[in-house]
Amino acid sequence: MKNLQGIAASNGVAISKAYTLEAPDLSFETEKVKDVELEIQRLKDALDISKTELEEVKEHARQSLGDEHAEIFSAHLLVLSDPELITAVEDKIKNENVNAEAALDEISQMFITMFDQMDNAYMRERAADIKDVTKRVMAHLLDVSFPDPALINEEVVIIAEDLTPSDTAQLNKQFVKGFTTNIGGRTSHSAIMARSLEIPAVVGTKTITKDIKDGDTIIVDGMDGEVIINPSEDVLEKYQSKQAEFAKQKEVWAQLKDEPTVSKDGQHVELGANIGTPNDVEGALNNGGEAVGLYRTEFLYMGNSDFPTEDEQFEAYKSVLEQMKDKPVVVRTLDIGGDKELSYLDLPEEMNPFLGVRAIRLCLERKDIFRTQLRALLRASTYGNLKIMFPMIATLKEFREAKGLLLEEKENLKGEGIQVSDEIEIGIMVEIPSTAVIARQFAKEVDFFSIGTNDLIQYTMAADRMNESVSYLYQPYHPAILTLVNNVIEAAHAEGKWAGMCGEMAGDSIAIPILLGFGLDEFSMSATSILPARTQIRDLSKEEMASYKEQLLSMSTAEEVEAFIREKTNQ
Ligand code: PEP
Ligand code: MG
Repeated sequence: MKNLQGIAASNGVAISKAYTLEAPDLSFETEKVKDVELEIQRLKDALDISKTELEEVKEHARQSLGDEHAEIFSAHLLVLSDPELITAVEDKIKNENVNAEAALDEISQMFITMFDQMDNAYMRERAADIKDVTKRVMAHLLDVSFPDPALINEEVVIIAEDLTPSDTAQLNKQFVKGFTTNIGGRTSHSAIMARSLEIPAVVGTKTITKDIKDGDTIIVDGMDGEVIINPSEDVLEKYQSKQAEFAKQKEVWAQLKDEPTVSKDGQHVELGANIGTPNDVEGALNNGGEAVGLYRTEFLYMGNSDFPTEDEQFEAYKSVLEQMKDKPVVVRTLDIGGDKELSYLDLPEEMNPFLGVRAIRLCLERKDIFRTQLRALLRASTYGNLKIMFPMIATLKEFREAKGLLLEEKENLKGEGIQVSDEIEIGIMVEIPSTAVIARQFAKEVDFFSIGTNDLIQYTMAADRMNESVSYLYQPYHPAILTLVNNVIEAAHAEGKWAGMCGEMAGDSIAIPILLGFGLDEFSMSATSILPARTQIRDLSKEEMASYKEQLLSMSTAEEVEAFIREKTNQ
């Protein structure tokens, strides 16, 4: 038995067999072969298995994520049947009597180099496709297993160095009972995805991939951030009870699903869900979401082989709005950059991607991409209660420019005879300290604020949200953070606007009483946090919490704030 401590990333307890998602060892020897036909047959068999697998992966992606996500696998399937590539490999086996591994490696390298050197991003993407597909075929030639999250068909806990947001999006909840990684923090995007998939997760364990073998039994406690490898009988029983208790607790929470969120003294606040795809709306509603407070649209662009078209985006936005009926849906425009990359968008390498051309900065540089998204959103606006917000706004000039483009596209659409709602609120995410500091000035021009504390904390504390070694600086209760948050809420209210929060802090049980007292109007969180938050708020008096505001703002440390709240709220 071995215990590891990581960062609690998604609630629940998973107990299952470990499945390591690690790159397989694809090393091989170049050999001369006598039976050329047999070698070609080996190649054909490896291509056939790869094809069957990729078809399954594609179908899985289509069902769980939609047609556009499945397209990347169509591109991979094309590589497998590309006569130029396959014939060249066969010819090499025939003409040089080499084994299939050596022939495949040399020919695919040649194609990869050729496509990589092309000027065109689309062609360079073909190089990435060939690289991916060759690895799969090579694994079959060498008879080593090729980990494929989408094809898992027994209950497992996934172990990985890290999971990219698109890896996470491929996980099948029926079989993947939890995951744990070496790196990452509570607000890294794999953790956020785990919460929307409602799978228990612990990230940032530093060494899990080294400490475990495939098939070991593993416990992932996503509440306390603990991971236990090959537990003793006693420990196993203890966690089985914890799992059962959590299930019971969920049933109690579920009784509040259709109840409003009202504090003990009768004050209503709105609890929304953060979603990444139209498929997440079901979870948001099942967990009692009164709104979508953050739709992270970049997931529509990720795991795709090209930019989603205006029509594809329109369908996704319309689907979310229709499913939510007339409940508010706050859509955030594209936030690419930082830990979220697009394989088909060729951005220059940056020293500090989180401080670089990310989100609105990219959209204002690549207005073609931005305008397409704005048009799709505006076209969808008549299907529900749409609000649009821009991410990573640092200056009023950026906001004015982004809003200007939105209004321009609105006029263009109207000129084309397309209906657009006139009720769309236009707001910003407050996640850069400069904006939080001059929230007063912003409040005069925006319709609402949504505070993105994942980034606001990272930028205020100068601590990378992906780096588990500085995760102790993720301090939502730090008085500096509370001061900025309060400033934003006061600024909004002074101008008659509303203030929400869509960072992870909004669902934190210590932060909730503070934010209620500060007068936050909307709390948006992972769907699974909504019912616990509603339960908690029904037991809190807003007036009492408000009376602690000045005292909290004058405290010196996060620890002091936490101790105070724990005492006042019996936590
Ligand atoms: C945030 O920064 O708090 C936020 C909600 O956005 P994201 O986590 O997607 O950066
Ligand atoms: Mg952010």
